[in-house]
Amino acid sequence: MQSMTYSRTADVAATVEQINRLHFAGADIVRVAVPDYEDAEALKAIRAQTSLPLVADIHFNYRLALIAAESVDCIRINPGNIGEKSRVKEVVKACSERNIPIRVGVNCGSLEKEFEERYGQTAKGMVESALYNIKFLEDLGFTDIKVSLKASDVERTVEAYRTLRPLVDYPFHLGVTEAGTVFHATIKSAIGLGTLLLEGIGDTLRVSITGELEKEIEVGRAILKDSGAAKEGLNIISCPTCGRIEADLVKAVAEVEEKTRHIKTPLNVSVMGCVVNAIGEAKSADVAIAYGKGSGLIMVKGEVVAKLPEEQLVGRFLQEVEKMAKEAE
Ligand code: SF4
Repeated sequence: MQSMTYSRTADVAATVEQINRLHFAGADIVRVAVPDYEDAEALKAIRAQTSLPLVADIHFNYRLALIAAESVDCIRINPGNIGEKSRVKEVVKACSERNIPIRVGVNCGSLEKEFEERYGQTAKGMVESALYNIKFLEDLGFTDIKVSLKASDVERTVEAYRTLRPLVDYPFHLGVTEAGTVFHATIKSAIGLGTLLLEGIGDTLRVSITGELEKEIEVGRAILKDSGAAKEGLNIISCPTCGRIEADLVKAVAEVEEKTRHIKTPLNVSVMGCVVNAIGEAKSADVAIAYGKGSGLIMVKGEVVAKLPEEQLVGRFLQEVEKMAKEAE
């Protein structure tokens, strides 16, 4: 799970503060933009203050990659704007010496001129650009490569990754780029990245959300969990409520979500508003509440373990969840 800081990278204190926030939120890798020499030179001090793997994001100026390579764990170059191949060669040499990978980060909006002219801003154009640049690195004897093929819409993104997958054997970093604000970015990323992950495509991912740090991680982790790519935390099954509802289910589910956020053990739990579907869902849940009128059942692994008044149900449910999570540790 990767994300990116939005501070000026040269502002070491602000960048480290954002990296720490991302680390705390659950990021595994952090990328920082390196648009200028001051930013490249700040990486050494940043590196010293975090244990998270760092990726330097380089556009246009290959010299920045040469400086960054001394401090980071991966260099992302956009082949569309890095310029002459002799420059890429120097980046390859620096990365080889430091034993760090290069991400060929193809973006649909900034393809090399030749590919854009031939294919337009299409999935095919992205794939051809990636293949060309991968071959270029391979011809230099460099194979510590990862690849991304990002477009700002789901369709081209999915098509590009699907097309490239059978053609190369390198890890893929997934993302729908410039995906917008929280609501839109969540939907685009869930469809695009979720589709690819369900097909077994993807090794790292970034959810791109305008101006949000922790949300990127929260959404990304949810995509990993709900696509089955990562087994961690609670899968909470709760009904949408309807006219048959017998309890304040909205409040109960909010409390369950809040108080179980820290649990990393993968568990299926269900919180259901009446007996219509509650017993059925409880059968496949590790822990469940089935609300009735003024009271309800607590079920563990499909078996009823208690019948309690409504106000005691969430407390008992949380006890059972904590117990099961501890036992599974
Ligand atoms: Fe309605 Fe009951 Fe289904 Fe919830 S479980 S949506 S309250 S019928």
